[in-house]
Amino acid sequence: MSAETTTTERPTYILTRAEVRAVDRVSPSFVRITFGGDDLFEFCTPGEVFDSRIKLVFPPASGVLPPIDRSSDDWWQSFLAVPEEHRGSMRTYSVRDLRVDGADTEVVVDFVLHLEPGLTGPASSWASRAEIGQELFLVGPRRGVDVDAHGGAEFAPGTASSVVLAGDETAAPAIARILEDAPRGLRGVAFIEVPSPADILRIDVPDGVEVHWLPRDAGELHGLSLIPAVLGYLGDADAAEEIRLADIDSEDLLWETPDYSGLGEEIAAADAPAERYFWIAGESGVVTTLRRHLVKDLGIDRSQVAFMGYWRRGVAMRG
Ligand SMILES: Cc1cc2nc3c(=O)[nH]c(=O)nc-3n(C[C@H](O)[C@H](O)[C@H](O)COP(=O)(O)OP(=O)(O)OC[C@H]3O[C@@H](n4cnc5c(N)ncnc54)[C@H](O)[C@@H]3O)c2cc1C
Repeated sequence: MSAETTTTERPTYILTRAEVRAVDRVSPSFVRITFGGDDLFEFCTPGEVFDSRIKLVFPPASGVLPPIDRSSDDWWQSFLAVPEEHRGSMRTYSVRDLRVDGADTEVVVDFVLHLEPGLTGPASSWASRAEIGQELFLVGPRRGVDVDAHGGAEFAPGTASSVVLAGDETAAPAIARILEDAPRGLRGVAFIEVPSPADILRIDVPDGVEVHWLPRDAGELHGLSLIPAVLGYLGDADAAEEIRLADIDSEDLLWETPDYSGLGEEIAAADAPAERYFWIAGESGVVTTLRRHLVKDLGIDRSQVAFMGYWRRGVAMRG
């Protein structure tokens, strides 16, 4: 991420200190952490939160956050100037909740705990041990930036009359926030794959949206429940039955939205406004597989879908 600028040349994104105010183990795989503190006042999403993403900087092994000159508008260069062993790790998360009460701002993040040896990382392991009073850095939109500025939210159904949301546990916080922020008249369906039945969390969903939680069987890999469920719903029963692990592509991290292609592809504008909008996020190979079926087999227009690889099996993410 770089410190993007607005027309006033002030960086759109700020880096603030965020202090742990509450730690709530809401299920076996999710820990819900509430951040607060005076500096968080500087942060706010420009519009509805929806799937707004933030970056969090986790401390290195020493436990000491890197010395970053936050007063400078060029905090990004200051961050990069810190030697790697002291810089800690930057990872991307969704805002599960944003509570602004006068000068007091709280940001809630639902962290997935993936703690198996060889499959964990600095973010998940920090979250599993988080205690009240500990601090991180949070990078997100500066309070007061123009609503039209890109605030890190992708959910944009436009005039579509229904939505299909699909994702694994890393996308569950964003899906939950989208459904809680959406107009109560929203119609559609959400598929959320989670590690176990105990990870099904409460979401305040519009009446016209059906939510299908898909707990995995013990040891089952990501996507083997989600992909058939989505394809079956869209009427591609043959593909749904045939999905095997070998089908799940794992290329580079996929990021394609109606107005941006990480693959550098041209996205033609649709001839007519789409009636249905798709939002799909999670393990990149799983999202790529869904993309292949939706675009190539089912002929769904690319301009109707946001496909977002949130993480990649076997690969540590970098800010
Ligand atoms: C826009 C966006 C929003 C996101 N929102 C959230 C969110 O709200 N909550 C959330 O928990 N995650 C979220 N993620 C995903 C999160 O950034 C990644 O899971 C990240 O890799 C976690 O960092 P880490 O340091 O724990 O692991 P890393 O150091 O990045 O990876 C270490 C190892 O862990 C594996 N790994 C990473 N994540 C998982 C997982 N979930 N399950 C199993 N193995 C995994 C990797 O494949 C790698 O082998 C989001 C990602 C994006 C891009």
